[in-house]
Formats: sequence, structure tokens, C-alpha cells
Amino acid sequence: MAERRVLCVGLVCLDIISVVDAYPAEDTDTSFVLEDLRRRGVQLPHRVVHAGCAFPTSVVISSASRGTRTILHSNSFIVSDLRRRGVDTGHVAWQSIGDTPCACCIVNAANGSRTITLYDTNLPDVTAQDFEQVDLSQYKWIHWEGRNAAEQVKMIQRVEEHNRGCAPHQRIATSVEVEKPREELYQLLGYGDVVFVSKDVAKVFGFQSAPEAVRGLSSRVRPGTTLICAWAEQGADALGPAGELVHADAVPPARIVDTLGAGDTFNAAVIFALSAGRGLQEALAFGCEVAGRKCGVPGYDGIV
Ligand code: ADP
Repeated sequence: MAERRVLCVGLVCLDIISVVDAYPAEDTDTSFVLEDLRRRGVQLPHRVVHAGCAFPTSVVISSASRGTRTILHSNSFIVSDLRRRGVDTGHVAWQSIGDTPCACCIVNAANGSRTITLYDTNLPDVTAQDFEQVDLSQYKWIHWEGRNAAEQVKMIQRVEEHNRGCAPHQRIATSVEVEKPREELYQLLGYGDVVFVSKDVAKVFGFQSAPEAVRGLSSRVRPGTTLICAWAEQGADALGPAGELVHADAVPPARIVDTLGAGDTFNAAVIFALSAGRGLQEALAFGCEVAGRKCGVPGYDGIV
């Protein structure tokens, strides 16, 4: 039987990136763009998978209607990029209405900062009914980027039901990412073996650091859950299933050139490590190592 794989459920968008040498002042037109890029942005484990980008995985994505030339173009770009990186797009939930979501990103080459405006369109999200088509036996790990939370809860419950009927070694591990500070998404904290919480969400809850966040949010997750929070140059912290606090330092590159997608890269690397059976400490360190490498290069090529 083929090796079981990792499945990601979320959204893929088109990133339109302007690399500038200094962040522009508002309402000026004197800024020069050093580079103008199109990149696939995957909003999975947040913005999952940019998670899918680095590792062989499968994705369930919503993609836009093939109704107009522009949409067709961005879709074919996204799909061909996924395929080029060995991501199986067989489960894509093609939509007949809606536009491809698009993010405009300014990357400041002087310090690697990224400023993102997201045009999150009317594209329907993957539903529990779409998810019914997935043959669960192919997967060892399924990750959800928090979006249409109520539907996603139903998908997770399907996997939990499947797991109840399985031998331990056939069970599917589950993870969720709560990246956007939106009330609707907080119900997802109560699901998944592993929960990723962004620093943006942590700050909304009033936490000033990752260790504070994982400790403070522990009452919102089920007992036995691993709760993980990444915090840029401060690395990442986690609360393990037995309540142990684990930390990994960031691994900064010689020069920070592009932090767009660092969080997704971190999530992908952690899932990759945990799904390969590595321990939490090792997985966090691996996440910081790969995410750090990503910050030192434009885009994702050459980070693994
Ligand atoms: P995002 O804002 O993209 O969600 P985070 O700020 O949470 O990403 O960072 C995710 C991981 O990326 C961090 O845990 C760290 O390992 C790495 N990282 C991000 N920014 C930096 C940085 N400036 N220096 C070193 N590592 C970084």
C-alpha cells in the first residue's frame, strides 16, 4: 500500500508581490519596485500551507470558476505551481461561482517585512459535503486552515469517527490553525490533536508572548492537545499533550530578505516533522530552522 500522506484543507490565493527598497509613504508615487512577482499563496495551516509549498502533500482547495480569462490564468498558475512542487491537486473542490482570492503584498527588501492586503473573495469554501469525497485511508495527517469553522468542525468529526473504528497505527492525526482574529474561528481551538495559534490571535486575547499565549489558551483546548504559537524572531513555543512547555529559538538567516509566508513555512515544517514521528521539541526546532531559512531567501525555492 502507498505511503499515507498529508492532506491540507483551506484556501489557495494568488499573491501579487512588489519588492521595494523602502516602504512607501502613503499617497506618493515615487517608490520603485525592485521586483514584481506572482506567487502562489496558500492559506492553510494560515496562510496552510504556504504549508503545502515545501513538502509533498495534497490539498483540498477551493478554486475559482473558469469563467473568465483572468481567472483561468491565475488558476492555471496556481495549479501548475502546486503540481511543480509535487502537491497532488486531485481533491480540489472546483467552484462554478466566485473569483480567485488575491493578496497584494509589499515586501521591504531592507528588512524583509511584508505588508499584506487580502482580497478574500466570494469564493465558496470547501464544505463538509466536498470533504465526504475524500478517501480517508490515504492520509496520515489532515490539517485545516481555519475558515468556515462550523463546516470544518463537521469534517474533523468525520475524521474522529473514522479514527474510532481504526487500529491505533491507522489513525489520522489532525491539526487546525487559528490565524485570523475572528470570533467564529475560536471554536476550532477545541478540535485537533495539534492547534496552531498565530501571534495576531494571541495578541487579541491579551498575550504578549508565545509562552504566555500557550499557557493562557490551554483551557480552551481539549486535554491532550498540543498547542503551538510562533512569534517571529522570538521563535516558537508549545504546550505539549502532558502540559509540558517547549521552546525553540528562531534561527535567523544572515540577512532577512522576505518574511512573507514564514508562518506557513513554520507550520508546514512542524507538521512534516510530527507526521514523520519526531518529538515536539525537535519539530519546533525544525520549524524554526526551515522558517528562518525562508526569511533569508525571496520565495520558497531552496529552503528544503
Ligand atoms: P507569520 O507572521 O508569517 O505568521 P511568524 O512571525 O509567526 O510568521 O513566524 C513564524 C516563524 O518564522 C517563527 O517561529 C520564526 O521561526 C520564523 N521567523 C519569522 N520572522 C523571523 C525573523 N525576523 N527572524 C528569524 N526567524 C523568523
